Amino acid sequence: MTALIRRVAEQVQRRYLAAMRAEPQTFGGPVEQKRSWTRGLWRGARKTCPQCGRGRLFSGYTRTRETCANCGLNLSGHRADDAPPYLTIVIVGHIVVPAALAVKQLHHPPLWLQFAIWGPLIIVATLWLLPIAKGAMVGLQWANRMHGFGDGDDLDEADAGNPGADALT
Ligand SMILES: [Zn+2]
Repeated sequence: MTALIRRVAEQVQRRYLAAMRAEPQTFGGPVEQKRSWTRGLWRGARKTCPQCGRGRLFSGYTRTRETCANCGLNLSGHRADDAPPYLTIVIVGHIVVPAALAVKQLHHPPLWLQFAIWGPLIIVATLWLLPIAKGAMVGLQWANRMHGFGDGDDLDEADAGNPGADALT
């Protein structure tokens, strides 16, 4: 009798353990795919949708589209806010200021020439970098499931907690 019970228990255990190993148990939906932050950053920096990498991220210079035309990802929940300009200032400043100081120390150019070089360079570099920084920020937020890029029900929460955010973007 005990041998029979042991055999049945082993059979049940083997069958159920094999089933559990073959497929992870999920409740309430499929297992979420892991999102690569490097891929999200790269796709965003290329001004494409962080999810598919094909649809355009912006409809204007830095105006984020509501949804991706290619994969339908809702992009309206991002909260890049003032991070892109901050990043742009940090990066451009750390390139231009040392370069300007080095050129001044080494070649002593007249002031008008310094302004003629660095002024336009700052403007061009800033305008070039700003949408890249914003795209990268949106891509990072998507990869980390932040704000509207979570599992769907945190969009309203983000809006409720940060009512002034729309004014900044
Ligand atoms: Zn897409």
